[in-house]
Amino acid sequence: MLHQQIDWELAEREAWALRRQKGIPNNRRLFVLACMDERLPVEDALGIRVGDAHVFRNAGGLVTDDAIRSAMLTTQFFGTKEIIVVNHTECGMMTATGDYLTNLLREKGIDPDAVQVDPALPELKLPPGTFPKWIRTFTDVDEICLRQVELLRSSPLIPADVEIHGYVWEVESMRLRRPGVRLAEKVNTAKAMGARG
Ligand SMILES: [Zn+2]
Repeated sequence: MLHQQIDWELAEREAWALRRQKGIPNNRRLFVLACMDERLPVEDALGIRVGDAHVFRNAGGLVTDDAIRSAMLTTQFFGTKEIIVVNHTECGMMTATGDYLTNLLREKGIDPDAVQVDPALPELKLPPGTFPKWIRTFTDVDEICLRQVELLRSSPLIPADVEIHGYVWEVESMRLRRPGVRLAEKVNTAKAMGARG
């Protein structure tokens, strides 16, 4: 009967709209932390679709306080069981140091030590001189990826049974890889191929 199909679709739509109220987790029970870079197509990279995951993106794909806040909410209260971090090659966060960027802001007339980092929470203050660290630039994408997994793992706000993994998106090949595993280096030299003699 047609009405059964229509009723089923209406019930599905209601469940979709009321997911949080009904305590329904996202499809994959997944939280993704990724860089905001436009060359990183998070959904395509992970093979996920609308409804599959909570996705948090910031400059670098780094474990900042707001990333922790979002990860805490989704793992503690919304049924999420897995976290995937995606950093990427040629990230803008590797192009300058925090000190350099802080000085550029000073040249623009901004005093980094005087600004509120969260205008809605003025109590949250950076100790003087920590602004360059707060920007969170880095020099090695493989290291930083492993580090983000460690930082999440060590947070008491994330349940211990949540699986946490990190991957590097190569903008040059538009592929994911595990941090520290560069396939190109394994195929481009005879030594890497295990040639003897
Ligand atoms: Zn980036």
